[in-house]
Amino acid sequence: MATVQTIQVKKAQPKLKTAEEGLKEFMPEGMRRAPKRPVEIGIRLFAYLARQKLRGRKRFPLVTMLEPLEACNLTCEGCGRIREYEPVIHRMLTVEEALAAVEASGAPIVSIAGGEPTMYPHLPELINELVRRKYFVYCCTNGILLGKMMEQIPPSKYLSWVIHLDGMEEKHDVSVARRGVFRIAMRAAKKALERGYRVCSNTTLFRGADKKDLHQLFDLVTKMGFEGIMISAGYDFAMAPDQEMFLKRKESNALFQDLLDDESIRQFRFYNNPLYLDFLKGRRHYQCTAYSNPTYTIQGWRVPCYPLADRHTQDVNEIFKPELWDHYGPGKNPKCANCMMHCGFESATIFGALSNPKDMVVMAKGIIAGKSGVGAS
Ligand code: SF4
Ligand code: SF4
Repeated sequence: MATVQTIQVKKAQPKLKTAEEGLKEFMPEGMRRAPKRPVEIGIRLFAYLARQKLRGRKRFPLVTMLEPLEACNLTCEGCGRIREYEPVIHRMLTVEEALAAVEASGAPIVSIAGGEPTMYPHLPELINELVRRKYFVYCCTNGILLGKMMEQIPPSKYLSWVIHLDGMEEKHDVSVARRGVFRIAMRAAKKALERGYRVCSNTTLFRGADKKDLHQLFDLVTKMGFEGIMISAGYDFAMAPDQEMFLKRKESNALFQDLLDDESIRQFRFYNNPLYLDFLKGRRHYQCTAYSNPTYTIQGWRVPCYPLADRHTQDVNEIFKPELWDHYGPGKNPKCANCMMHCGFESATIFGALSNPKDMVVMAKGIIAGKSGVGAS
């Protein structure tokens, strides 16, 4: 189990356990209407998919995962990145390298991850330029430095902050192994919503996930005006110190059924599309299409995918080669056995819906209801 360090605790405060308690402290003020996911994303994504089909491309990217640095101001137990890139943790991409990777991939959506992107000193320059070029940018953050970033990056319909939240205060602070982080992240979310930014949350489930606590979190962020909740099971990174925390595929299915089959779930605003939520529950089966989210790091493009790097390459086109995918995916590689990540399977639901009218209708309904999206990680 994770141990919790203590930082910035001026005086003991009762832990926030319910959405009502959280709302008293974090409900945005003076916000006329919660920023919504722009319709333009759906239209641009659809046009992009049609262009790729017309070109006869079978494997192509939907989201470029960009990791300008791998350093972080936290040391979460379930994090692979800070361990995997430990030898190069001091290095970072230049803005030119980052932009060149985005152009080389060609996907209309860019998810900036890491490491903690807000520690990247050139983040304002990078995001402002991507927004100027009309990429849809999702910046994944633990929220600690988000307040500072907002001074330098104006709100835009092309930008969404994606805040890592694994539970209400007690659970989240254990998950990130540091006390106080939940309150810091939620204060930043409140400020971001008040200033007109789009804000999403990203929750990773590990063994011991608490349904009641997660429902409180989902209730809280929905009422605060978050654009959507992204959820997934944690990938079992081989270098993580506690392997017991990771769920096996069947365990994930049972947990997601318990979490998502509840009637109360209808009131929460999920960002993941309904087909992917069914996949998490084990009611749909897909083969991995993680070539949809090529991931660029200080060492190059990860091969094959965002969670797993058997090697790196400087040529993004290697990731789209069919022979690579003979070796990866559930049933093909033991490292993929328990993986249910957005990058591999939410994209699979989108590709699958393109050739299945019924699924396309389910997806379209999700888009109209403002729920379907492309997961940011
Ligand atoms: S906040 Fe993200 S990058 Fe940082 S240690 Fe935790 S999981 Fe890793
Ligand atoms: S199933 Fe796909 S996304 Fe998951 S580790 Fe394997 S190749 Fe990567």
